[in-house]
Amino acid sequence: MTTADVVIEGGSVWVGPGELHADGLVHIQAGTVVYAGPRGGEQVPTGTPRINAVGCTVLPGLIDAHVHLTTNSDHSRVVPSDVFRGQVSNPGKLLHGLRNAHRALASGFTTLRVMGHRGVGEIELRDFIDEGLTIGPRLLVSPWWITMTNGHGDLFYPPYTRRERWDTADGVEECRKLVRIQAKAGADFIKVMASGGMSKGEQPHWPNYSVAELTTIVDTAHDLDLRVAAHALSADGIRRSLASGVDSIEHGSYLDEETAAEMAEKGTFLVPTMSFNDWCQREGTSRGLSPQAVADLSDAHERTIESFGLAREAGVTVAMGTDSSGTLCPFGAHARELELYVKHGMSSEEALATATTNAALMLDRPELGSLSIGSVGDAVVVEGNVLTEIGHLTQRSNLRHIVRAGRDITAHVREATAVLGLDDAVQTDPGDS
Ligand SMILES: [Zn+2]
Repeated sequence: MTTADVVIEGGSVWVGPGELHADGLVHIQAGTVVYAGPRGGEQVPTGTPRINAVGCTVLPGLIDAHVHLTTNSDHSRVVPSDVFRGQVSNPGKLLHGLRNAHRALASGFTTLRVMGHRGVGEIELRDFIDEGLTIGPRLLVSPWWITMTNGHGDLFYPPYTRRERWDTADGVEECRKLVRIQAKAGADFIKVMASGGMSKGEQPHWPNYSVAELTTIVDTAHDLDLRVAAHALSADGIRRSLASGVDSIEHGSYLDEETAAEMAEKGTFLVPTMSFNDWCQREGTSRGLSPQAVADLSDAHERTIESFGLAREAGVTVAMGTDSSGTLCPFGAHARELELYVKHGMSSEEALATATTNAALMLDRPELGSLSIGSVGDAVVVEGNVLTEIGHLTQRSNLRHIVRAGRDITAHVREATAVLGLDDAVQTDPGDS
């Protein structure tokens, strides 16, 4: 028997939307779910390690579908993101990324969709974790973002900064080539900047890329079985992204009824990333943001909430993403996003679906995000009834067990959390939910 076998018994087992077993049992063998259902429905081999989940909710491992992994992980130091980008070496960034990964895992998030930072080594970290050489969440990585000259992401760097070949791509030929370069580098998906953002020198209403360029990116990616995530804030950026056939709209702050209807019709996912702006509203000033920046982000936050409502009315599928990015929206507080979804109209179960089955669907990884037979053996055991009170998930003390690929890693995670202070920044009281 390998150590990737475990049985979780008692408690409410939430297999996925619509399937709850009040006195349930989950059996994971060799890292894969072989049974999830009522207790007594399965003969578990003697000697299998057992987790008692009485009084708890048992959930599939959670997915955060929008994070910036290799960002500042040291919450005791306020480091503006441009300073971090410009002054920390690539190996230094990767070490922070590993620490951020541990923060996520300790909060029950066993899969992260990593939006990519060029040359930092996130692909290598993904493989290192997959091979079992270190403990971490499963990473799905875009090697770096695809952006045009003067586009979002290019403007993170001041004009005097030396830019390298393929930091940007302009015109259909370069766009096609860059997708293929990223595929060869080991991409799990492609991230493209399809509108301006909130960084210095740009406007969120700017579209980035023409429909022809976006279509080339999408078609080339789809030929290689890669999905495309489009950063798109403005209605124009969203419209062009939809016309080109992208698979998800990230942020989508300026969605309108027309674009929401088009997303629903095409099956395009929305990743709202409310946490980032929410965090900046609450903590931005103490984290070095100017009053103007906080006011701008407050506007964006209101608009994101409006878009979220429009998307839900139109029937758009939402996948959870936080935009966790170090100093301003620290790793480990991921479940806050679910709390915000509930605050703005979702039931707890709908919110859970965004971080499990919906996200898995978006990632085209059906083995993730559920406890049904054949799924990966990732599970979280949370004290209390998460289906009536999503807030249970946000309190670290409620997380009784974290199971990753059939291994109960709780002791390891607890020790790392205590020794490395991974809980700082996570347990602040939002005070409004
Ligand atoms: Zn982002």
